[in-house]
Amino acid sequence: MDLPHHSVTQTPIYSELEAVADATLLVDNHAHPLSKAAPSPLWSILSEATTTPSYPHPACGTLAYSRAIRDISGLLANEMDEPFTSQPAPMTLTPSNSASPPSPHTPTPIPHSETTASDDEEHSLEGPSPADRAIEQQRATIGVTRLATRCFGAAGIAAVLVDDGLNMPEQMSLNEMKSLGIPLVRRVVRVETEAESVLKELVTENKDGVWRRVARPTSPDKKPRTTIRATMFRQRLHQRLSSLPENVAAFKSIAAYRSGLGIDITCPDEVLDEVLRETISSASVNLNSTESFRLTNKVIIDCVVHVAFQTAKQRHIPVQFHCGLGDIDERLEQANPLLLKPLMDMVPDVKLVLLHASWPYVREAAYLTAVYPNCFLDFGLAIPTLSVRGMFRALDAAMEIAPVTKLLYSSDAHTVPDAYFLAARWGRRVVAAAVAANVQSGDLTVSEGKAAVRRILAENAAGLYRLPVQAS
Ligand SMILES: [Zn+2]
Repeated sequence: MDLPHHSVTQTPIYSELEAVADATLLVDNHAHPLSKAAPSPLWSILSEATTTPSYPHPACGTLAYSRAIRDISGLLANEMDEPFTSQPAPMTLTPSNSASPPSPHTPTPIPHSETTASDDEEHSLEGPSPADRAIEQQRATIGVTRLATRCFGAAGIAAVLVDDGLNMPEQMSLNEMKSLGIPLVRRVVRVETEAESVLKELVTENKDGVWRRVARPTSPDKKPRTTIRATMFRQRLHQRLSSLPENVAAFKSIAAYRSGLGIDITCPDEVLDEVLRETISSASVNLNSTESFRLTNKVIIDCVVHVAFQTAKQRHIPVQFHCGLGDIDERLEQANPLLLKPLMDMVPDVKLVLLHASWPYVREAAYLTAVYPNCFLDFGLAIPTLSVRGMFRALDAAMEIAPVTKLLYSSDAHTVPDAYFLAARWGRRVVAAAVAANVQSGDLTVSEGKAAVRRILAENAAGLYRLPVQAS
């Protein structure tokens, strides 16, 4: 690995910090469930692109894919020769005030060579090569349970917060994930999904009573009227979010995907009344069926975020925001975290987490963490989706101004266990490299650097989400 800043990974400081990172069990503050189905191909987790059979998946040509193939090949090199046990070893978090002796539960070491396997094989940038297909075949043969046990064991994870709002087919439950080797699993609730359920509930309850598909004679547009009002919607959503079980560690908003992060929570109820009426009228067929219903109206989404903040404050939990890169259905310019600034001014007492390094808006997000005490920055998805140099630059850019107490590790892994392993492997190394560069430049002492590594990988998140892991 040849990183900038005088090849920092070749330095003794990097080696020291990497040892600290390897001895630290991760607190992953944002991930998604696994699928119980046969493991999907590695390229499918490295890009959200939708493709047709006519073209190779764009991810196959990325640096992250070439790297992932080698990493997984190395991880599974001896897999078929080893006896399988589904009993994962217990894990505890490395105490923050210790030096850096290897933890007895240090994750399975991974060879540091970048040439773990198939280095002399030609990897086709146009699509999976025969060597790539052999690795995919091996993953399929092993199956998801064994693959997950292997990946989680190698990743060295103390806790994961799981956003289970993806509703993928054959989605694993949180308990099932825990049984595969994650000591602590907590839930992250997607507030827009809850709001959609609330609206459907209200329509269903009112369809024979208050809700009637009748046109009022006075209504010039002759559309059905509803007496579902803003106050009802707010109250019911608040009730629903308040009554969620204790294992909910955070709320998450995907407003960036729906109407953008320029959220205005000052909209009067009279306007929301009218918007609800129009939404229910135009979507009444879907709302009354079992079909999924997708809220996209900005006034409603902004109201949902407002209720989420009010409830989060009562529950003393943070609100995570999707920011920056994501699926093809988002408008990236609407996912710039700077758009959240007016909202942040109005809710100083609720903690916000900007997800995904807000890439490519990393510096914008880092600035927000520096000026808002309640703002934190996660860097999942950027790691491991970017190139090694890109991951390093993203974290190094964040560290230019973000307090090290505000940076949070996550995997944003989903569907297949490999994603947890790849994020853990590169999260540790990139954090160690970025911190080492800042030790080398004189901003941090070596002992401050070691503390920063532990904070970023585990302790910041353990404190923010009040997780019962040993963080100090
Ligand atoms: Zn996510």
